[in-house]
Amino acid sequence: MSTRPRSYNTEGVILRRRNLGEADSIFTVFSPTEGKFDAIARAVRKPKSRMRGHLEPLTRSQMHLAHGRNLDVFTQAETIAAYLAVRDDLDRLTLAIYCCELVDRFTADRAAQSELYDLLVDLLEALDAGASPTVARYFELRVLANTGYEIRLSHCAICDGPIAEEDTLFSVASGGLVCGGCRSRGGSGRLISVRAIKAMRFAANATMGQFAGLRLEAELEAELQRVLGEAIRSVLERETNSGRYVEALAVPLRPPVHESPGDVQ
Ligand SMILES: [Zn+2]
Repeated sequence: MSTRPRSYNTEGVILRRRNLGEADSIFTVFSPTEGKFDAIARAVRKPKSRMRGHLEPLTRSQMHLAHGRNLDVFTQAETIAAYLAVRDDLDRLTLAIYCCELVDRFTADRAAQSELYDLLVDLLEALDAGASPTVARYFELRVLANTGYEIRLSHCAICDGPIAEEDTLFSVASGGLVCGGCRSRGGSGRLISVRAIKAMRFAANATMGQFAGLRLEAELEAELQRVLGEAIRSVLERETNSGRYVEALAVPLRPPVHESPGDVQ
């Protein structure tokens, strides 16, 4: 037998829950030190459970767990931040759930990624403080960069040459922007506008707060949402096919369209 301790403490954000049996739930947690993991909370759906309320999707909690034979078991949980303002706003709630889903899809089990954790906490705090939905675009770019899929924006992803100030091919397969001379070799992609390129370059060097302060026109916001949504889907499909991620895409990932909350499921 190993000599590892029988229990441990960690903080984490609850990415999702699924119910098990009459009163148990399995929670997927993203922790700065443990990475992503599933653990079981016994009897958490009973009204008298002391952990009830401290283990909810989107909640950031301090938790104590015991190693189990298959899944670890929560023995205590205490809320650090519940992000109540996010829960009260359907648009922000949808974005927060989407970003948690991105973290879930882009991470493997038990691989600590503290930068990605900080990014997720920053996002939840920004949304809770009323930041514009544009922060989700920042989050998408940073998730890609943090998990090894940084989008090349400064120079041509193929020849490393300069990018002219014009509509430019954006090819996920090539790794980013593709200059006019390389366009025929750039594979599939879409032409994106100069202002979308500038916004993404700004995001690459800005803090989340700085990016959230930008007032983007609706058309530009929609373009960024389309471009980054496609990039995310394309990476996930490729990686799912190659087996890099354990979980297959159960449903096609769609970035939420925050202009029309009627679409939200
Ligand atoms: Zn080129």
